Amino acid sequence: MHYIGIDLGTTNSAICSFDGSETRVWKSPEQSDVTPSAIYVDRRGRRFYGRRAYEMAPIDAANAATLFKRYLGTTMKFTFSHTGEELTPEQCSAEILRVLFGYLPSDWQQSAETATVITVPAAFNQMKKDATLQAAELAQIGRVAVMQEPVAAVMSVMKDEPVDGIFVVYDLGGGTFDVSVAEHAAGQVNLLAQGGKEMCGGRDWDRLLLREVVLPWLRERFNLPSDVERNPKYRRLRQLATFACEQAKIELSRSEDAYIQMDEDRLAQRDLDDAEMYLDVLITRAQLTSLITDLLATTVTVSRETIAKAGVTAADIKKIVFIGGPTVYPPLQDYVMGALGISDKGLSDPMTAVAEGASIYAESIDWESDLHERKEAIRRTTEEDFDINYEQRSSADFARLAVTHHGGEAFAAEVTSEVDGWTSGRQSFEGRGVIKLPLSARGENAFRLTIFDQQGQRVSLASDRLVVEHVLATVTALPSSHAIAIKALDRVGGRPVPVYLVRENERLPKRGSITLRAGQRLVAGSSKALVFTLWEGEIEDPIEDNRYIGAYRIPGGSFASGVIAVGDEIQCDYEVNEAGQLRLGATVPAVRSVFANQNYYSRFEGQLVLEDPSASLRAARRLRLRIAELQGLSYSAQLAEISERLDDVLEQLQSDDAETVQQAADDLYDCQRVVARFRQTHLRSVRLADLAGYKRVADSYEGDLTPEDAAMLHELYLSARHAIDRHSESYETIVREYSTRIWAALQGSEEFLRMQFVARTLNPERYDDPAQFAALKAEGQACIENRDLAG
Ligand code: ADP
Ligand code: MG
Repeated sequence: MHYIGIDLGTTNSAICSFDGSETRVWKSPEQSDVTPSAIYVDRRGRRFYGRRAYEMAPIDAANAATLFKRYLGTTMKFTFSHTGEELTPEQCSAEILRVLFGYLPSDWQQSAETATVITVPAAFNQMKKDATLQAAELAQIGRVAVMQEPVAAVMSVMKDEPVDGIFVVYDLGGGTFDVSVAEHAAGQVNLLAQGGKEMCGGRDWDRLLLREVVLPWLRERFNLPSDVERNPKYRRLRQLATFACEQAKIELSRSEDAYIQMDEDRLAQRDLDDAEMYLDVLITRAQLTSLITDLLATTVTVSRETIAKAGVTAADIKKIVFIGGPTVYPPLQDYVMGALGISDKGLSDPMTAVAEGASIYAESIDWESDLHERKEAIRRTTEEDFDINYEQRSSADFARLAVTHHGGEAFAAEVTSEVDGWTSGRQSFEGRGVIKLPLSARGENAFRLTIFDQQGQRVSLASDRLVVEHVLATVTALPSSHAIAIKALDRVGGRPVPVYLVRENERLPKRGSITLRAGQRLVAGSSKALVFTLWEGEIEDPIEDNRYIGAYRIPGGSFASGVIAVGDEIQCDYEVNEAGQLRLGATVPAVRSVFANQNYYSRFEGQLVLEDPSASLRAARRLRLRIAELQGLSYSAQLAEISERLDDVLEQLQSDDAETVQQAADDLYDCQRVVARFRQTHLRSVRLADLAGYKRVADSYEGDLTPEDAAMLHELYLSARHAIDRHSESYETIVREYSTRIWAALQGSEEFLRMQFVARTLNPERYDDPAQFAALKAEGQACIENRDLAG
């Protein structure tokens, strides 16, 4: 077999192979270990990839595609004006995959014996992982599985220099940050925890240099409009300058200072006074370091959280391993090691370690299995009178073989090596025997087993050849990087709750089954569908604050006859494989249908539509309201800070730069998480305030209540209060009941209905469909004018 690993990076990609004992990096035609993930189309429609494309991108952006990995799983399109072609991020990624695959010997490319692992950041959400697999399909590079980059990084560390104990892998790339905590002992690697942040990488350094250093420098020397940062006319200037910033930044990894440079001819841009512009800006390490301190502090915070998640402390950590281009910058390493209090670092090549580790990982996959699970560590065979079990994969320098006679009789056994002539000699056993097989070679070690019965007769065995793979290291535990939940109602007409398929840090792979109920009627063959939404994240309430990752969708066309009625059971059988990919099957007893081999996960419904950030905008405004409510409870510096961040998010969401919008959407998600956590830690006060709100309403209309209703409402109020004091989840149910009863009791009060209507129309951003909101509001106002209470 040829085991291939591809690091499909935001900025740079790399390909590596593993033959069971050695890895090899396959270089680009320019003899570089890495290939920039860039595509350029020239006037004649010829496509260029890698270095050439990367260098052309800032000069002729209208014909280049870069950073497409950031947009996987979104509706973003890359257009090439020379040819008018449009490529999706998946298509762009597919082209890079094909280019890298093309570096391999051509017989490997065609071979059914070639199997490839493509890495994805652990911070990648479900949609992006699926989009990566789709890219691989488009690229037609044969058998492919995906695996998280940190796992690959860990595998490569094992090869270079096995660290005994706990270590941290810090991977800062062009676009994303990943951190993982792993433990190694005797060839077994446990991944204890993973964390990360999207939209945080070396590219952000370039943008900072542009904004904080280059633009001010240009403004001093040239006459530029005040909106040069956004003005489309200066787009090319910004791109070329960013490119120059990146070059200088890379130079700073080698020297104390560097120039951000571009001459007049290359820049080819005039200012408002028609003066020819150029760049010649001196930048020092000290300057860069101070610019990026906030970004680095974020990575340290995420690292600390991940270390805590792993259940260890910084003092337990032996080493840190740096991966990714920006980590080459020496002050980064000093800062991070200092902040985390880790004094020792591991060796590994930051640029190729992930591809290398991915190729090593590819060897451990059982490529024949459906879900591309890992190979079994132990092989068990049963012969007529014997059980023969042995470790077919071992990272130690020996493997154990156990032979057991079914009837407990005595026997003798002998094992010889096919590799180096080693033999165990003939050994006698009573019923059961264990023999240690020395593994002299990396990769395959083959042995012959001979068994003799009590009479000394040779026993004929169906398989007497034992093949043991001597592996570098085995990963034994893979934690899930996110929780995934289906949104369902806790009962018919009840409130929405998350039903978790997998929790953060839970071990993968995981299979399971949950029972849902249809909320709608669905007739066989109909074009409608039962749709449940899927969410990634740990926020319990409101579940919509998690990341929307698509839908579980059962179309009417998927069953031939019958009707699914409201309340009918739907059994959702799910699988999350080791790479965190989700498959959802369905069994619906009402229509006697099992759709086990279908995948009803549909990522397309969760795609972030970049052209229309209005959903994010509404979510941001909703969050603003929620923060205001929480601030009403008590002053909190944390909330004040989040509120400021949210202001930036709101502004950025309205930008016309796709990258800014995506960054803002990501920041919004962070804000939502912080607010949810805040709410959770202040749950008691939140509930008390919530309940007080209802009580105020009930009290102010007391005159309209019958004495019975007043007594009943008071009872409900008291039990809600008790539920709060008992920290009981039943509070949610009781308070709903309380609110419903208040409504029922005050149906006859015109004033009450009018006030409720006004309260509900004050904040349109609470609602998802602005058009429908406006229509309903007008209708309601008409009812009020006509004193139509029922309406
Ligand atoms: P990705 O995993 O996102 O493809 P890489 O790990 O290849 O990213 O890192 C790309 C980033 O690293 C870019 O922002 C690039 O400018 C930066 N980079 C590459 N080499 C160096 C270096 N020697 N010093 C500092 N930054 C570097
Ligand atoms: Mg990378």
